[in-house]
Amino acid sequence: MNAERIRCCVPFCGRTFSREKVGFPREIICGKHFRAIGPRTKQQYRGINRKLKKWPDDERLFRLHDLNWRRAKRQAIEAAAGLI
Ligand SMILES: [Zn+2]
Repeated sequence: MNAERIRCCVPFCGRTFSREKVGFPREIICGKHFRAIGPRTKQQYRGINRKLKKWPDDERLFRLHDLNWRRAKRQAIEAAAGLI
């Protein structure tokens, strides 16, 4: 009951996830909206996350993750708004 919930970052999506399951990212894109992200961005996202699990303290990886996440988020939100 005390678990903190994180909302999907696409406006009006309304899906939430428990903080415990999500782990380290502060934001999340739900499965439905994740599918709307371009294949290159998704591939990159998976690669970066795999590496981050191995080297969680790598600053460079963290910056890459941040850039990639912002792109993923923008694509998910644009797709949800019907702009693509
Ligand atoms: Zn969503």
